[in-house]
Amino acid sequence: MVAAHYIKAMNEAITLKTAAGRALLGRCPCCGQGKLMRSYLKQVENCSVCGESFGQIRADDAAPWLTIIVVGHIFLPLAFLVNVDWMPVWAAMGMWAACFAGLALAILPRAKMLFIAILWQTRAPGYKPVELV
Ligand SMILES: [Zn+2]
Repeated sequence: MVAAHYIKAMNEAITLKTAAGRALLGRCPCCGQGKLMRSYLKQVENCSVCGESFGQIRADDAAPWLTIIVVGHIFLPLAFLVNVDWMPVWAAMGMWAACFAGLALAILPRAKMLFIAILWQTRAPGYKPVELV
């Protein structure tokens, strides 16, 4: 049964959009059924359903970079649009700090899953280690 899933998944032309969508949901970019992450920021070595290998993929600094871009450059400016004059400054600073810390913690693993899917689908250099001859 596992082999049938694997063959079916490998025979399908999995687009980058499909792989990214599956990964953002925490699923295997190959089959869309197995889990991609085994803990908060660690990917599984192999998909439990199709057996596709993800352990050797290195997203490196891409996930924190994307998280900083999204939180710092998209959501942070939106904070200036919200009127918090009714609350003390210390409370507003604490609220925004907690809000952005939570947002960053929510985006970081999704950014990593997204980059793993991109590296997997494109077979980019981070996909497999370079063999030394
Ligand atoms: Zn899979």
